[in-house]
Amino acid sequence: MSPKKIRKERIVVKVGTSTITNDKGDIDIHQIDLLCRTLAGIENLGYDLVLVSSGAIAVGANKMRLKQKPKDLRLKQAAASVGQCELMHLYDKLFGEYGRLVGQILLDNDDVENSGRRENLQNTFEALLENHIIPIVNENDSVSHAEIESDQKLFSDNDMLSAIVAVFCGACKLIILSDIDGLYDKNPSTNKDAKLISRVENISDDIYSLAEGSGSNRGTGGMITKLQAAQLATSHGIDVLITNGSNTDSLYDIINKKHVGTLFVAKENP
Ligand code: ADP
Repeated sequence: MSPKKIRKERIVVKVGTSTITNDKGDIDIHQIDLLCRTLAGIENLGYDLVLVSSGAIAVGANKMRLKQKPKDLRLKQAAASVGQCELMHLYDKLFGEYGRLVGQILLDNDDVENSGRRENLQNTFEALLENHIIPIVNENDSVSHAEIESDQKLFSDNDMLSAIVAVFCGACKLIILSDIDGLYDKNPSTNKDAKLISRVENISDDIYSLAEGSGSNRGTGGMITKLQAAQLATSHGIDVLITNGSNTDSLYDIINKKHVGTLFVAKENP
């Protein structure tokens, strides 16, 4: 990957499936509206934003009236195709309400690994951001199957995709919005006494040992993929915050340098 010069006004926000859908798998319109309104407000303060959004398969499965999350690859890809349309329709409409334009970017491994395609992609991000358009990024799930059937793939999850995008765009911060307040000293969905860790300087094996997979049937990577993403981004000089997506005002707190969630501190000499 070719990292860019870090731009202090550039922020990548990643939102997980469990934040933008409810327990039944329906889109949480109120939550998405709050997210779009908050991000539009932050853009008005002079920041460039990139949104990495999960949720296409869950939203598509729901729209197709599938009784459960599809297990078969073909059906998953069909659901991703339906759900991506629905998600973009909503983002376009809601950001539009707040005077913002959006552009869709769907990526797969080759876009990142092939230097020619990578350069093209970086130029596209630049052109969108220079024109104050919010890029909305997802893996191209209906075509590639990296996230869906993750194995040894480069971005086995949108958490990792968001870190790669942050490096690509020269972002100074990556904010991962989850269904949980941050990294805890043990999995809070199975341990009531788990305590929030507010700051991590070094993502060591000890830190990895605290993390488990997803606690909900809507989430995918759980805390493990978030730590991998944080490790990649911090090693490129990008601060990473994991915080709860249900409180979108916390995004303003982050901008105003108030402490929320878990901060993974950027390495000084990446
Ligand atoms: P999202 O859709 O927001 O990406 P995930 O379900 O993939 O959500 O990841 C968040 C989940 O990771 C939490 O709800 C929790 O169940 C699980 N988890 C595992 N270990 C930890 C930990 N040490 N601290 C916080 N959450 C953890």
